[in-house]
Amino acid sequence: MKRAIIGFTKDEHGNWVALLSCGHPQHVRHDPPFTLRPWVESAAGRAGKIGVALNCVRCDRLELPDGWIADGRGDVITATGVPSRWWRIQRSDAEHWLTLEVIRGCVRWIPCQPGPSLQVVDAGNAIAIPPDVMYRLDWSEDAMSAFTRYHRPNETD
Ligand SMILES: [Zn+2]
Repeated sequence: MKRAIIGFTKDEHGNWVALLSCGHPQHVRHDPPFTLRPWVESAAGRAGKIGVALNCVRCDRLELPDGWIADGRGDVITATGVPSRWWRIQRSDAEHWLTLEVIRGCVRWIPCQPGPSLQVVDAGNAIAIPPDVMYRLDWSEDAMSAFTRYHRPNETD
């Protein structure tokens, strides 16, 4: 899915890495003749790319970014206790990742946009839900599950 560039850093080999709004890093090498990104070599060039969206395959694979910090697990939710709005299509908030842990039964995570694929999560398993993604959830009748919210490593809340 498309993610905006929010900054740049270098890896341990001196290659430029774009920092994406989702928390994932993505190499943006200038490596002629294979990859041509002359803009990455100058501060002005990089500044001009802030806000530009790149395709993030790690978000499509639902990979929680390294180093994000759990805010603590939320209440255990049973299928009968799921707020009605949670059965409808919703959009996760733009600043946080979530994990959905299934304790009993089964939950289906159904993305409503291109990129990630449908996930069936059964007891003892969990999935990560990226920020700013549209999805719907289906709980089995006996399902028990819990969300955990994650924030960026440099956030202080
Ligand atoms: Zn991502």
